[in-house]
Amino acid sequence: MNVFSSIWNYKCPRCRKGDLFVAPFDFKNPLNMHENCSHCNQSFSPEPGYYFGAMFISYGWTVWTILAVVGFCMLVLDWSVEGAFALVIFVCTICYFFIARVSRAMYIHMDVRYDKSLAEKGETD
Ligand SMILES: [Zn+2]
Repeated sequence: MNVFSSIWNYKCPRCRKGDLFVAPFDFKNPLNMHENCSHCNQSFSPEPGYYFGAMFISYGWTVWTILAVVGFCMLVLDWSVEGAFALVIFVCTICYFFIARVSRAMYIHMDVRYDKSLAEKGETD
């Protein structure tokens, strides 16, 4: 599993085996994460406020999503500003939890290095 599929599947950045988020998805607590990795025991919240930095990744994702959707609607489809923004609000509402989860996964993948020996350990056990 490469780093991109690990982020996309919300896997542990260290072993790429354990899940970052508690399954199944819960609308009451959509960002509910495990305390530690079930495979390698990597902590997923090493300090209070750890995921504050993920907010900046989420901001970037949201801004580029808005620019892409509004730009496509106005320049290619020749929609009005109101129509384009109505659609972008709808798209951002649907994508909110996805963007928040991917941002957290990207943030912890930037901080924690992949350990190939840990990933292989589980396959032989
Ligand atoms: Zn792990």
